[in-house]
Amino acid sequence: MDEAEDRLRQQRGRRRIVAVAVALISGGTVSVAEIVIGLVFRLDSVLAEGLHTLADMLDSVVALLAVRQAARPPDRSHPFGHGKFESVAALVEGVVIAATGGGICWSAFKTLVWGQPRPEFSGAAIAAMAAAAVLYLIVSTWLAREAKQTASPTVYAEAAHLRTHIYITGGLFAGLWLGRALAWPWVDSLMALAVGFALLKTALDVLKPAFGQLTDQALPDADLKAIVQELRQFGDEFIEMHRVRSRAAGVERHLDVHLVVAPETTVRVAHELCDRMERAVARRFPDTLITIHVEPAEKATGDGGSPGQVLIAGQPAAPKR
Ligand SMILES: [Zn+2]
Ligand SMILES: [Zn+2]
Ligand SMILES: [Zn+2]
Repeated sequence: MDEAEDRLRQQRGRRRIVAVAVALISGGTVSVAEIVIGLVFRLDSVLAEGLHTLADMLDSVVALLAVRQAARPPDRSHPFGHGKFESVAALVEGVVIAATGGGICWSAFKTLVWGQPRPEFSGAAIAAMAAAAVLYLIVSTWLAREAKQTASPTVYAEAAHLRTHIYITGGLFAGLWLGRALAWPWVDSLMALAVGFALLKTALDVLKPAFGQLTDQALPDADLKAIVQELRQFGDEFIEMHRVRSRAAGVERHLDVHLVVAPETTVRVAHELCDRMERAVARRFPDTLITIHVEPAEKATGDGGSPGQVLIAGQPAAPKR
């Protein structure tokens, strides 16, 4: 990898860090406001959303540290890079969100079944929810753009997550307003329950991809297809490629593959071909680590090596003598 590429990589890393920090600051501000409002006016739904946002904030701190760690170049202790620091962070994040969601659901359920809610639908609380929704709209739109430009799933997750808060705070705004208009206290507990369920759903969405990365799940089919397409354009310089193995680590993609070349190919020529292939893949997917194992023609499998592996056919092999 050359220097310019290294610099770009570090630049993207820094932008991701700024993006996560912005998500953190806006979430933290809203969270404190919601917890205070929830306690003062006995609004369980607003308190639940405040706790939810607090859990998010703690997660963002973990994510911030993880993105920092993940952006470091490979070193002696982590020669494959630090991409999986992001996967571990997502796992922690998912567990915290699940616990918060479970707690909120349980508490709202208790109030609905055995309790008597006595919320005060204050105008200040209603206005605060509207303001929070607008803030989330602005920040999440900006984050989504940063995520796209830096190709970061972490920043994308933050953006998508803040977007859900637009709906939640918007819903709370409408619900509190309705509760005030109808003088119906139960709407508060029902909304708290809904916030709890939304959290459980979010937890699942965060845990699934993190689990996939930590268990070395293959790249999504679309990514793999795009990579194979890049490699295929060198088809007249090799006999076949097989045993294509892929996995993701945070924003990084790891790929290793066998390359079958004509037996008389020199090491110099084969290596130069590998370098060009690596560059082609890196152009399409910037943070890809690719390892190519070179084999002579008699290693051609004709069917992709082991079952389920991708085969990329090149020129026909010379008949065996
Ligand atoms: Zn959230
Ligand atoms: Zn092989
Ligand atoms: Zn080399």
